[in-house]
Amino acid sequence: MPQKTKHTPMMEQYFKIKENYPDAFLFYRLGDFYEMFYDDAIKASQILELTLTSRNRNADDPIPMCGIPHHAAQGYLDTLIEKGYKVALCEQVEDPKTAKGMVKREVVQLVTPGTVMASKGIDAKENNYLTAIVSTEGSSPYGFAYADLTTGELKTTVLPDQESVLNEASSLQTREVIVGNSLPEELKHKLTQRLNVVFSEQFETLENAELSYLTQDLTDVLMAEVVNKLLAYLLGTQKRSLSHLQQARIYEPKHFLKMDHYSKFNLELAQSIRTGKKQGTLLWLLDETKTAMGGRLLKQWLDRPLIQEHQIKERQNMVESLIQAFFERVDLQEALTNVYDLERLAGRIAFGSVNGRDLIQLKSSLEQVPQIEQLLTGINRGEWQELLGGLDPVTDVVSLINTAIHEDSPLTITEGSVIKTGYNEQLDVYREAMTNGKQWIASLEAKEREETGIKTLKIGFNRVFGYYIEVTKGQLANVPEGRYERKQTLANAERYITPELKETERLILEAEEKSKDLEYQLFIEVRETIKAAIGRIQKLAHAVATVDVLQSFATVSEKYQYVRPNMVAGSHKLLLKEGRHPVVEKVMGHQEYIPNSVMMDEDTSILLITGPNMSGKSTYMRQLALTVIMAQMGCFVPAESADMPIFDQIFTRIGASDDLISGQSTFMVEMMEANEALRHATPNSLILFDEIGRGTATYDGMALAEAIIHYIHDKVKAKTLFSTHYHELTDLDKTLEGLVNCHVGAVEKDGEVVFLHKMLEGPADKSYGIHVAKLAGLPDDLLDHASTILEVLESGNPVVKVVPKEIEVEQAPVVNQPKVEEEVSQLSLFNDVSPELEALVAEVKGLNMLEMTPMAALNTLYELQKKL
Ligand code: ADP
Repeated sequence: MPQKTKHTPMMEQYFKIKENYPDAFLFYRLGDFYEMFYDDAIKASQILELTLTSRNRNADDPIPMCGIPHHAAQGYLDTLIEKGYKVALCEQVEDPKTAKGMVKREVVQLVTPGTVMASKGIDAKENNYLTAIVSTEGSSPYGFAYADLTTGELKTTVLPDQESVLNEASSLQTREVIVGNSLPEELKHKLTQRLNVVFSEQFETLENAELSYLTQDLTDVLMAEVVNKLLAYLLGTQKRSLSHLQQARIYEPKHFLKMDHYSKFNLELAQSIRTGKKQGTLLWLLDETKTAMGGRLLKQWLDRPLIQEHQIKERQNMVESLIQAFFERVDLQEALTNVYDLERLAGRIAFGSVNGRDLIQLKSSLEQVPQIEQLLTGINRGEWQELLGGLDPVTDVVSLINTAIHEDSPLTITEGSVIKTGYNEQLDVYREAMTNGKQWIASLEAKEREETGIKTLKIGFNRVFGYYIEVTKGQLANVPEGRYERKQTLANAERYITPELKETERLILEAEEKSKDLEYQLFIEVRETIKAAIGRIQKLAHAVATVDVLQSFATVSEKYQYVRPNMVAGSHKLLLKEGRHPVVEKVMGHQEYIPNSVMMDEDTSILLITGPNMSGKSTYMRQLALTVIMAQMGCFVPAESADMPIFDQIFTRIGASDDLISGQSTFMVEMMEANEALRHATPNSLILFDEIGRGTATYDGMALAEAIIHYIHDKVKAKTLFSTHYHELTDLDKTLEGLVNCHVGAVEKDGEVVFLHKMLEGPADKSYGIHVAKLAGLPDDLLDHASTILEVLESGNPVVKVVPKEIEVEQAPVVNQPKVEEEVSQLSLFNDVSPELEALVAEVKGLNMLEMTPMAALNTLYELQKKL
């Protein structure tokens, strides 16, 4: 920390202010610049690529400093926020001209990643959430609240454990977490691991009457506390009225389809695993929304699919009625396209950061509402009544803006030209004075030319001298003596003034200044009047967003020929006929995609899927998960027909994407995910396990896989898709009634195996591995050898050494072979065989031929042979 001795009063002031904002960059206003000092300056100059200078260059200890012009500050501020920093804006809060001594300065706003109002970093179709978490003495349960300052959304709940907190925070993709003193370090650590967040501390709770109405309904102590913390932080950092914040809404995660963090991640709902972007995700597929609000609501619906049958049916009915509606959907879409971001406009009105153009945008958005309403009224179905009721065109605001605000208002609100003529009498008087004055000056020019006979005489204006009469050098002789007062001499002209000219100038300038001031004042008045309508605008925004998401569903459903699923709560029948993976189908094209059914009657709980790599097993599982999610969001689904239960939770363990998460080993992640499912799934849940057990030794893995299947079958009873490499598991259908085998079909064409990506009944053919090896081009001799071994293994005959002569001669040195087993050995895991043999068989089966070079295969064979 810099020495505080012997500093100028200004630096003393700086230190005093900076003390309160140790974790933020302090933008300290000095005239037209924001200056940063010391560490702030050093760090900012690196991040923002600014020149680092120093304040008292010649002193022993110069103060590092760097500055940003105040009018260009926004871009720099955005960059810092985007990188996860905080910025305290410190302004001069009194006029330097009238200030006695040091100009008073104050931090007027602390901008943080979770409170930024507008920035290039904020996507229009994404929310920007700020979260607060509190706990009672550092343990569960946790009070959880989040707000989007840009839209005013405010929600709260109580979460039972750390995992739920992590799940909620990650699905909100929160950027900033407010913590009090009692949050366990362990939880903070986990949050940092999983999310790119900054932490902010807020110890006091809210003592603010102004916003207390937001929390009046919160009877739960934890919820009240956490919302209070959030509000206290918002008020403390933003230091202004936040009248757009909406009443805190209580929500219960258990009222929605539950998916843990891993599942959302693995299923690529909103973020592609490879790129982290929206492209290629379910959200990308479903998003045909035309408004920013609709885009955000769609994401929210995707995060929380429904579980109540009547709610799902209501959305389905609305989607259906939009598909069947008589009007052209493009008309609705066009009207929606012309609606700007009403939620964020409302937010900025409350925040006090709108300009004339924003109000014109608000007006033209509101003007679309009657058109939207008219189209939808034609549908005439009960479900629409409530929504139509919310489509309030807020006409009073429209007419206020129409009479008050110029259509082509400038970006600033202090330079005039914002308020329309005719709106305010006094303003009109000033404007007339300005016009009259300017006309008088124009006629003066004509008069002076005439009377002096100087044709080139002109009247000009500049900011330093005001109005002047200008005569070029060549005409000076024609200027009558004593007619004008000389003001300025230029290289080739003289400039003059007259008392009348100056008097008129005074009137014009005075009128101009007064009119600017008045316009500003009038604008603020208009803004304040509209502020009173913010609640209505927000309600409208929600209705428009809902219409937008529903039309997006209708559009997508029609475009890709989806069907309305028949959803029955409490049913255990899952009959998905000729289903498709919506995203893969979109990417590869409808023609190319091979549809697959998922047929599970009341009594089937497990589909055991066998098939080699790349045959389409995980696509099949993902297809089901996405179909369930789409259905429970209220959208139609990619299938010929669909009868579905309503699931309460989805658990997945699919794909090998895990190395991306927090450095856990794949197998550990696999087991953690399996654990989640086994502990929390109910008979109404959906479990998707892709190759569980693959991550460990074969023997070990197979044993685990079998035990897991038994556990699900007997105890959990959730609908489960289980894919496996372990062929032995297919025998389980003999003992487990609720287990059905299926496999991915393949045909042999011209001696080669072609995967059909088609699910067929029964277990897969055992010799796929060898076919695949053939595809990969392994030597014929080796393949023949493998086929012979397989035959022997399958026949259940005593194991004999089967080694082709050539290989033996060329490769195999003479080694001590273990004795061949004399007894008849059954090669199934489920019979009594020697563990060594079992391990060997499993090892052969576990070989991934596709990834082996012929040489590696040969070497492996050699190693295997040694063990026989
Ligand atoms: P597995 O899980 O069996 O290793 P995947 O599900 O990853 O196989 O599928 C492998 C590839 O096969 C996918 O990338 C996809 O391009 C293609 N595929 C899968 N299912 C289908 C299908 N039903 N129709 C067409 N192509 C498919």
